[in-house]
Amino acid sequence: MPIVNECAVADCAYNRDHTCHALAITIGDVDHAHCDTFLDSPSKGGDSAATGHVGACKAAECRHNRQLECHAPAITVGYQENNVDCLTYAPA
Ligand code: SF4
Repeated sequence: MPIVNECAVADCAYNRDHTCHALAITIGDVDHAHCDTFLDSPSKGGDSAATGHVGACKAAECRHNRQLECHAPAITVGYQENNVDCLTYAPA
């Protein structure tokens, strides 16, 4: 599974020091590559010893997406306006 290289979303429950600690995140709706795992919470979750990976991606129109799975070597997550998005998304 592709690693989440960096995530700028410090408010997320799974984020510590700009690193994602959810074992497997889900990206997307079909029409927008947002991080579906983002949880705005002051309490922290995830596995602090692990780095996040992309478990599934519903952004089917991304060039890295095949059969609703991400095949990029790694992704970056961050803010895009007010959305928490996969910044590695690229239209096919
Ligand atoms: S790079 Fe594309 S396929 Fe991979 S998680 Fe981001 S939007 Fe989905």
